[in-house]
Amino acid sequence: HADQALYQSKEKGRNMYHFFTDELATQITRTMEIEEGLRQAVSKEHFHLVYQPQMNIQEGRQAGVEALLRYTHPQIGMIPPLEFIPLCEKNGIMNEVTEWVIREAFKQQKEWEKAGYGQISIVINISSSVIEDQLFPETVQQYMDEFEIRPGTMEFELTEATLVNNIDQVYSFMHKMKELGIGISFDDAGVGYSSFKNLKDMPIDKLKIDRSYIMDIPLKEKDRAIIESLLSLAVRLGFDVVCEGVETKEQLIYLQEKGCKFVQGYYYSEPLTKEKIETAWLNQNI
Ligand code: C2E
Ligand code: MG
Ligand code: MG
Ligand code: MG
Repeated sequence: HADQALYQSKEKGRNMYHFFTDELATQITRTMEIEEGLRQAVSKEHFHLVYQPQMNIQEGRQAGVEALLRYTHPQIGMIPPLEFIPLCEKNGIMNEVTEWVIREAFKQQKEWEKAGYGQISIVINISSSVIEDQLFPETVQQYMDEFEIRPGTMEFELTEATLVNNIDQVYSFMHKMKELGIGISFDDAGVGYSSFKNLKDMPIDKLKIDRSYIMDIPLKEKDRAIIESLLSLAVRLGFDVVCEGVETKEQLIYLQEKGCKFVQGYYYSEPLTKEKIETAWLNQNI
């Protein structure tokens, strides 16, 4: 019996081995195809932006949109950002992609303005790698001129991942953007490296509270404690708070009562195509 059991487990091991290598091989092939596709994605126009509305819940109005990048691979189809963005970074093309996103968003804002929707402010996610690019501020300035972007109508969102860079470099980057009239929002606060010291020193306009802290409110006491503390800290330190991933009415009412100014989440709207944003802004009905 012992022999048989040993034999069976060896067989099983062999099968598992095949299973893993097949899975792995498929995954590696997929990754290689995506990487190959991404290299030409900008020139072949395989990227597009979708826009998720941000609401000012104290005044009950739409405040702007966050631009979110989408990639359609010619053979595989839609690839989620959490899969393709790390691959752009790994392959050193994230700066080029970020510049594409910025230009596209600026162009879109101008287009909306011309079409009579007013100046819809747009939040753009900025990859941590552009911080080291000395020419980046110049490129932003150039796009602002090209599309006549007015100061105070664009916002760059940095994540905590940015803080792996030299901190003085990060602050100097933020100050340069602010000089151009671009607001700074700090995303995923509380998830990674950020400390009170960073919050104190960074010239930020908005702090984004991660969905993981919103998910269990108003139920969980500890999550409420964290959110309420961040909200009062924000008042004292002089920035606004955006709560991300608001999905229910209970969450919304709670945040409204606690004085949170901005929310974003499926409760109001998922990310929308530019055409749907136009309808939403016309009807003011999301
Ligand atoms: P993020 O910046 O934190 O963006 C919010 C993500 O949460 C988006 O996912 C959005 O669709 C999703 N979301 C919004 N409301 C809800 C909600 O109520 N419930 C749930 N479950 N999810 C919600 P998405 O579009 O898949 O983007 C994922 C991440 O990819 C972004 O997280 C951001 O880190 C990154 N990303 C997207 N576009 C860009 C970009 O243009 N540049 C850079 N550097 N990163 C980007
Ligand atoms: Mg974001
Ligand atoms: Mg976020
Ligand atoms: Mg997040």
